[in-house]
Amino acid sequence: MTTTGTLPTTATTSIPVITRIEDVPQIARKIVTAIPGPLTLALQKDYDRYVSPGVGQHEPIFADSASGATITDVDGNRYIDLAAGIAVASVGNTAPEVSTAVQKQAAKLLHTCFATTPYAGYVEVCKKLAEHTPGDFPKKSLLLNSGAEAVENAVKIARKYSGKSAVIVMENAFHGRTNLTMSMTTKANPYKAGFGGFAPDIYRVPFSYPLRDQFGADGAAAARKAVEEIALKVDPSDIAAIIAEPVQGEGGFIVPAPGFLEGLLDWAHKNGIIYISDEIQSGFCRTGEWFAGTHFGIVPDLITTAKALGGGMPISAVTGRAEIMDSVQAGGLGGTYSGNPVSCAAALASIDIMERKNLPARAAHIGELATELLAPLAASSVVAEVRGLGAMIGVEFVRPGTLEPNGDLVKRIMARAPQAGLIILSCGIYGNVIRLLPPLTISDAELTEALTTLCAVAFEEAAE
Ligand SMILES: *Cc1c(COP(=O)(O)O)cnc(C)c1O
Repeated sequence: MTTTGTLPTTATTSIPVITRIEDVPQIARKIVTAIPGPLTLALQKDYDRYVSPGVGQHEPIFADSASGATITDVDGNRYIDLAAGIAVASVGNTAPEVSTAVQKQAAKLLHTCFATTPYAGYVEVCKKLAEHTPGDFPKKSLLLNSGAEAVENAVKIARKYSGKSAVIVMENAFHGRTNLTMSMTTKANPYKAGFGGFAPDIYRVPFSYPLRDQFGADGAAAARKAVEEIALKVDPSDIAAIIAEPVQGEGGFIVPAPGFLEGLLDWAHKNGIIYISDEIQSGFCRTGEWFAGTHFGIVPDLITTAKALGGGMPISAVTGRAEIMDSVQAGGLGGTYSGNPVSCAAALASIDIMERKNLPARAAHIGELATELLAPLAASSVVAEVRGLGAMIGVEFVRPGTLEPNGDLVKRIMARAPQAGLIILSCGIYGNVIRLLPPLTISDAELTEALTTLCAVAFEEAAE
């Protein structure tokens, strides 16, 4: 196995390897019924009858409550949460400080529409964004509701400022489900199949994928190749923006080789092109820095954030150089609900927890402990690589001893995980990566129980 990113490559061998799920003591987990349980099955009937199947359902679990790093279902089963609602609950599930802030705000002011009658919370969130995002220059922000909306608006702003229209995106990228953002996304299934026509003026070039591309750890060479392809496909003078996730999320938790993002950004700036960093999944302490691009020294012109920003409430943002943000006419950006007062209160409470509990340091610690705990899996012939930055960790599964993606095994692990008391997610262009996104407040004991269980699940399924 190989590791990339900042995960240490040495693992202690003193941790005993447990290969059977039933041998891992249930402490934080508590599975008391068959999974799915009886109340879940009853709910599932109505779900099947009334909910659009387009939404998808990873697990046969209906959540009743969640706290810290655990989720309890309607049948009373308690799971350790390694998904955090897709990197949203970084400050912990139902964090008391966030819940209290939401309740207080909800009792005082629910909505005015910020463009109609402004309120302090929105301005305060923009101030925090200016303070925490990379770059020592004046910055301004726009608040929105979802990640896709943030990406759409970043592109609108880049086009307005530059007067150009072409947008460069990365292979394996995920940017959302609206027309523009699904067009910018690589994977056809499930994100694009049957949903065309797609937005024009989008050009896709390879992202650095050290495990699988010809450049391996030579990120500068991968960047030169990407730039060469860009120039073949579109004249650089027609390009408004290049957009990249510093660590690809949905695409497979791919950490680019050092030198790749730097090379792209450098080329963008030499050609008068705006560089947009999509930190919707990787941002807000997840990788051991406030923003993942910092690991590579990336200071983007525009940055998109969402997910962990709201601590569980819907809110997203575009933050960028003031001169770029200032180029847009009043009324051109925003929306009725954008930057809702309750979501702003949740964001302020979440950022406060991140600051007080030093969650970047906590994320780095999670990365180190996880590397040790996943070492038995990393050494197995069905795992090509355990990789990641901080608490954004991917385990890429392959057919034994090859690099051939093993999506079937990941499907089996995903199906088995709830029975073992775990909530996990998969990802990857081939669907062969298990991604781990625990709440950053997870205790060492909970993480140890969860990852020991995950190894046992994988060993049992790989042996089938
Ligand atoms: C989740 C995600 C989005 C889309 O966010 P939504 O809130 O689901 O619209 C965009 N970019 C990245 C990198 C994401 O992880």
